[in-house]
Amino acid sequence: MKLTNRSKVVSNKEMTFMERIYLPEIFKGMAITMKHALQGSKGKVYSYPEVEKPRAKVWRGLHVLKRDEEGRERCTACGLCAVACPAEAITMTAAERTKEEKDLYREEKYASVYEINMLRCIFCGMCEEACPKSAVYLTDRLVDVETNRGSFVYGKDKLVEKINARIDISDRQSELQKKSVK
Ligand code: SF4
Ligand code: SF4
Repeated sequence: MKLTNRSKVVSNKEMTFMERIYLPEIFKGMAITMKHALQGSKGKVYSYPEVEKPRAKVWRGLHVLKRDEEGRERCTACGLCAVACPAEAITMTAAERTKEEKDLYREEKYASVYEINMLRCIFCGMCEEACPKSAVYLTDRLVDVETNRGSFVYGKDKLVEKINARIDISDRQSELQKKSVK
C-alpha cells in the first residue's frame, strides 16, 4: 500500500560520460560551499564553550537519578529502563535494602550499581518514559568531554542527584505525572 507520494522510481539507466567522471557534480557542490562561505553565517554565532547556546527546558541531555522528598533514592532496580533502552546503554545490579538503609532507599530493592554508557546512549528518553518510579530523567545538562572511553560510563556517583543540590525536572513532567508521583 502506498502511504505517501514521496517515493521515487529508481531507474537503472546507463550513466553518460559526464555522469561517470563526476566532475560537474563536484563543481556544483563546490559552488554551493563557496556560496555559503562568502555569505557568512546568517544565524547568531556562539563562542562555545565560553558562551553556550540556550537549550530548551525539555532538552534531552545528561540523566539524573532522582531522590524522593525525604532524600531517599527512588530507583528500585526493576530494570525496565534497561529493557526499554534501544542502545543497551543501561546496566545495573539490584540489592536488598536492610533495616538500617531505610533512610537511604525508598523501596525494599535498590540499585547498588547503576551505570549508563554515555557513548552508547542516543538520548532518546525511552528510559525516562519506562520508569514506573519517576527515578530517571534526562536533563538539560551536557555530558562532559572525556579523554578515554571508560570515563563515559557514568555510575551512581555522577547520576544520583546530590542531596543538597536537587535538580528540578518539573518542566519535563506531565501534569498527570506530577500528580501521580508520590
Ligand atoms: S536516553 Fe535512550 S539511549 Fe539513552 S539510556 Fe535512556 S533509553 Fe537508553
Ligand atoms: S530507573 Fe526506574 S525503570 Fe530504571 S531500574 Fe530504576 S526504577 Fe526501574
